[in-house]
Amino acid sequence: MGQGEEALHDIFRNSFRGGKGLSGPGSDCARLKPPSGVATLQTVDQLIEGVHAELGTPWTTLARKLLRRTLSDLAAVGARPWAVSWTIAAPASASQSRLKRMAQAFLAEANAFGCAVVGGDLSQSPHLVLTCTATGLEGRRRAPGRSGARPGDWLLVTGRLGGAVQSGRHLRPEPRLTEGTRLNQTYRPRAMMDLSDGLATDLPRLLRASGVGAQIQLNDLPLHPEATKATGHERWQCALAEGEDYELLIALPARRARMALTDPVLLRTGLTQIGTVTEGNSLVWLDGQTPLRAKFKGWTYSWKS
Ligand SMILES: [Mg+2]
Repeated sequence: MGQGEEALHDIFRNSFRGGKGLSGPGSDCARLKPPSGVATLQTVDQLIEGVHAELGTPWTTLARKLLRRTLSDLAAVGARPWAVSWTIAAPASASQSRLKRMAQAFLAEANAFGCAVVGGDLSQSPHLVLTCTATGLEGRRRAPGRSGARPGDWLLVTGRLGGAVQSGRHLRPEPRLTEGTRLNQTYRPRAMMDLSDGLATDLPRLLRASGVGAQIQLNDLPLHPEATKATGHERWQCALAEGEDYELLIALPARRARMALTDPVLLRTGLTQIGTVTEGNSLVWLDGQTPLRAKFKGWTYSWKS
């Protein structure tokens, strides 16, 4: 273990913000004891320089982004952030001060979101590779999954879609934690998820998990101002396929959806019905009354088959 690693461990240790039921880092394991009867929800995410972010993006920005997008997964199940641990694999050429600045940025961001950093690990790699595991606490209601949507449900999204890269939002995503909790506690979504890869990729995941289809009214999509700069189908492509929106996609029975649409907490961010869940397994994009033949494709990885 080099001096650099020790220095980083010191940062982890010094930054630890005690919380009820939490102890770590500094031991081999962090000890997490949730309040009696409360389920924890856990998610892991990674960020690789050159894959998820352009080479040359400040590492402090990447560390904050990693935390925020990991917390977006907690938002997607209506959980409250509680504890995170993370790993850094950085090129040998990185200076200790650069690593330290990155670690401090991550810790400050975690504190701002009210979660303790309970552990971490450090290693080397040709490019910067960061991972983050976040643990959240379930609220009074059980966390929604992706599989409960039923025909007739309304599909809604928070905020606005598209133009994340042009507007710079992709570097500082806003995890919809308040909205996720509010939706789950008050309106009991049948299914909910966050939109990281674009609606055209993420919606089919929810539909498949639920064994249903959907009709989406493209004219109802809440477009980010950056997306409205494009014209015609381009602007829909922008809203559906670019990804990194980190908004929530929600399936709600019509009556509860109507109530949610007037909720002042949710209206601050914006909540919009974009379509309905249908029987079967087809996904239809509508331009007014006309089904669109164009295939929209969001972000996906591909491997050699
Ligand atoms: Mg997600």
